[in-house]
Amino acid sequence: METLTQKRALELFDLSPEEWGVNVQPLSGTPANFAVYTAVVEPHGRIMGLDLPDGGHLSHGFMTPTKKISATSIFFESMPYKLNVETGLIDYDKLAENAKLFKPKMIIAGVSCYSRSLDYPRFRQIADENNAYLMADMAHISGLVAAGLVPSPFPHCDVVTTTTHKTLRGPRSGMIFYRKGVKKIGKNGEKIMYELEKKINEAVFPGLQGGPHNHAIAAVGVALKQALAPEFKTYQQQVLNNCRSMCKAFQDRGYTIVSGGTDNHLILVDLRPMKMDGARAERVLELMNIAVNKNTCPGDRSALKPSGLRLGSPALTSRNLVESDFEKVVDFIDQGIKLAQEVQQQAGPTLREFKAKLNEDEEIMKKIASVRAEVEAFALRFPMPGRDDL
Ligand SMILES: *Cc1c(COP(=O)(O)O)cnc(C)c1O
Repeated sequence: METLTQKRALELFDLSPEEWGVNVQPLSGTPANFAVYTAVVEPHGRIMGLDLPDGGHLSHGFMTPTKKISATSIFFESMPYKLNVETGLIDYDKLAENAKLFKPKMIIAGVSCYSRSLDYPRFRQIADENNAYLMADMAHISGLVAAGLVPSPFPHCDVVTTTTHKTLRGPRSGMIFYRKGVKKIGKNGEKIMYELEKKINEAVFPGLQGGPHNHAIAAVGVALKQALAPEFKTYQQQVLNNCRSMCKAFQDRGYTIVSGGTDNHLILVDLRPMKMDGARAERVLELMNIAVNKNTCPGDRSALKPSGLRLGSPALTSRNLVESDFEKVVDFIDQGIKLAQEVQQQAGPTLREFKAKLNEDEEIMKKIASVRAEVEAFALRFPMPGRDDL
């Protein structure tokens, strides 16, 4: 079963078993990344990933001035790179400059909140200039990569990790792809081989994990089979179409989208021009039964008061919403944000006072209940996948 899952994983991303191997045992994305660092970066070796407030992931390292939050920062030295605050895009020039100074052992190309395609050739060039490994963490976009709708990291990277439960639409698990075979030809024409397979496999087991979670591996195998079917590509194309429709609907209403648009399944709405923030908007929307995610925007001073909302299209696309339905969804979210503005004008300055106002003010509670009823009626038109009765 594990062998079959590995075979499907390579097939899905068009990888030859001579050039690539895959470990399907990692319990999730974070342990997969940690296994890679354990395998190829020595203790306190340097790792450069996109900073968490800029759209990176905790597992690429995160620390505050007073505390190392991620174990990646405890056991390795995380030296983040950042976005250009003006453009909202990764500042590759600054990364190149800092990589030259820091000489990292590994550079990570991977994001949790970034709506643009990554420039893998540029990452490769920077890694090569510094003799660093290049790892892509395609957790968010692996389904889009499988469908061939966003650039693939594989031609440019030494290692590629992914979760299996985001756009790949499988169970909670993780995978590590690693290069095999000839790495390069040496000065005297000798073949220099990749030495990743044994190190990575041993870092997963027995390094960091015990026995394989065969229930999860079986479920990954099923998800990969689904991802190999033609319907999966249709689904992913709709994910992109819906995300663009959502993005345009916000822009048409005057909202600011970080980086000015989207190449993938998500957008980051910057609420600063609306004099609103992510936490307050998130709370009001939650009361309307709309689940969204507050998120920092480039230039945010405090991670505790993030100014944005991160919105993605995959889940609603699985419920068969199309472009015009996303316009309606944006209309609901817009109503929520406007209501949040109204509450903020009447409430005290703290988040606690804002939440208290939401629980006390009858007029506001009525308005929220009215939109919530509309949201529920709308959502009921789109059955849960596999449950036509729900
Ligand atoms: C979600 C995510 C992960 C892993 O998350 P887990 O919750 O540990 O599975 C890793 N990297 C990126 C970029 C992610 O977005």
